[in-house]
Amino acid sequence: MASQEIENLSQALARLPGLGPRSARRAVLWLVKNRSTALDQVLDALSTVKERLVECDTCGNVDTQNPCTICADPKRDAKSICVVEDVADLWALDRARLFTGTFHVLGGRLSALDGVRPEDLTIDTLLGRVEAGGVDEVVLAMNATLEGQTTAHYIAERLEGHSVRITQLAHGLPVGGELDYLDEGTLAQALRARRPLG
Ligand SMILES: [Zn+2]
Repeated sequence: MASQEIENLSQALARLPGLGPRSARRAVLWLVKNRSTALDQVLDALSTVKERLVECDTCGNVDTQNPCTICADPKRDAKSICVVEDVADLWALDRARLFTGTFHVLGGRLSALDGVRPEDLTIDTLLGRVEAGGVDEVVLAMNATLEGQTTAHYIAERLEGHSVRITQLAHGLPVGGELDYLDEGTLAQALRARRPLG
């Protein structure tokens, strides 16, 4: 029977995706055993991230600097913006390392069911970036779900009349597919074969 403090830690870890109560208990046990070496390292990493986490004012990425590492990188092609629903999608696409432009995180998808309206997403900020000039291409990288595609079409409509090329990920993506769950090869393929939004 563990103390309440240790039990609290187990419960906190059990909420992490991919863990669950059993793995969480094993992780806690390991941390307790290796407290002299591993515990400080985990604590330091956690508190540094907690202190420094900010949302990028430009793209909505979550990073420890603002503008984020991607927006601040001069090697990135600012003429091309890849629009994604969530930060997880940005990270997934960036892991594939094929997109050399910048990103824009919407903060969700339009959904009548969940009451998510255009003004709840960062669509105006995206339009602002396009209107500020210097953008040639907007890649709509929404999930291959009904709501994702509705969102893509809505954004395409809002971008009408702006002199940007609007493309969409080629959906070799499985229907209903969420970007974050795809392997890097599939993502890379979808990005390479992106096509004009029809
Ligand atoms: Zn950014």
